[in-house]
Amino acid sequence: MPTLTFLGAAGTVTGSKHLLDLGSHRVLVDCGLFQGLKELRERNWRSLSIPPAAIDAVILTHAHLDHCGYLPRLVSDGFQGRVFCTGGTRDLCSLVLPDSARIHEEDARDANRGGYSKHHPALPLYTSGDAARALALLQPVGYDRPMPVVPGLEVEFLNAGHLLGSAFARVTLSDKTILFGGDLGRYGRPVMRDPVGVDAADVLLVESTYGNRLHEPDDDGAGLAAIVNGTVEREGRLIIPSFAIGRVEEVLYAIKRLEDEKRIPELPVFVDSPMAAAALQFYENRVHELDEELKPAARNVSAFATRRMTTVESPQQSMEVAASRRPAIVIAASGMATGGRVLHHLAATLPSPSNTVLFVGFQAAGTRGRKLIEGAKEVRLKGRDVPVAARIEHINSMSAHADAAEIMRWLSGFSRPPAMTYLVHGEPAALGALHARIQTELHWPVHTAAHEERVEL
Ligand SMILES: [Zn+2]
Repeated sequence: MPTLTFLGAAGTVTGSKHLLDLGSHRVLVDCGLFQGLKELRERNWRSLSIPPAAIDAVILTHAHLDHCGYLPRLVSDGFQGRVFCTGGTRDLCSLVLPDSARIHEEDARDANRGGYSKHHPALPLYTSGDAARALALLQPVGYDRPMPVVPGLEVEFLNAGHLLGSAFARVTLSDKTILFGGDLGRYGRPVMRDPVGVDAADVLLVESTYGNRLHEPDDDGAGLAAIVNGTVEREGRLIIPSFAIGRVEEVLYAIKRLEDEKRIPELPVFVDSPMAAAALQFYENRVHELDEELKPAARNVSAFATRRMTTVESPQQSMEVAASRRPAIVIAASGMATGGRVLHHLAATLPSPSNTVLFVGFQAAGTRGRKLIEGAKEVRLKGRDVPVAARIEHINSMSAHADAAEIMRWLSGFSRPPAMTYLVHGEPAALGALHARIQTELHWPVHTAAHEERVEL
């Protein structure tokens, strides 16, 4: 009897890892990092319940670190098999895995320098070399093409509409199909396609991130246009802290559309993040996998380039952009203003009431972004306290995850209920709310997965 073990994203939103054990072979679906609270991050350092060398293959649903960021550690601990994913996921992994390794290496170096680690010396979770070895194992597969993974197991990737390359992994065994939902995208959004409808699976795993919430309704760009125009009237600069992959494309596309419709003036737009610039190129190359309306009218027209856009490469060029006082839009990472080049743009713009800082994503507790949207009068940046006189705005409708109504809409596409639906990738309140809705509205058998729980298929 094949079994499924939940090694991550069970009762929480990070660390996605689901182990399929066929007896003869073992396949890990997603290989994500635990992130956030310390007690979760510490799980990254504990051995898996199975030696990585005993895993024959890995399947990745998408390139967010909470789904792929543990892969270099799996490799350094002995995994040698192939890693199946879409081409878009391979592209984005080539950016995020080396970047993650670099951050782990810097953290270890800082801990050794500061002497604040209980380990001597502090070691990184994995190195740049491990990330490079992990990338060499990636085996890109097109959407909608069943591919043998190990004897008796095939995978097919279906577009999940959540990020470039994102997929549901439909795994077929000899007598049943298991649909790993990965992260579920949204309906009717710019840039990404709607998630593909699925009409049957014997076993289903579905994410529950927003299982108890609804996103703000779309305002057709009215809020963004008002923020840009207000900043222009004050002759100020607009700084948009943004996650480097996915969100940058959505923001650029929204600005370009407002320019095309003459609802805002054509301002200089600086994309100040080397990773964002590289990701943008991958989005351009795979525009046929994105929303139909992105197909360019003419071949030389980019789907994302605003009229006066510049991608900023060198740190020196970035400092020059930050030093300028001319009206402009600057998009820079990180999205919650916890690090990255956005910090020196904030230091330069926060003290003046002419400027605006616009947050476009969820701001977690404890981050600078959260402090700013909650009205902090001063924030600490690069070792000094910076007064906040700029306008602080927040548009929260650009989530890449389906909300509760969208999850239910996707589930309602099934023509028969799965024999079992497992809820993963959610906090307890969201899991509980979605569990209740699936029971009362769909009358499906449903189970909320527990960490390290093993079930028979
Ligand atoms: Zn994701």
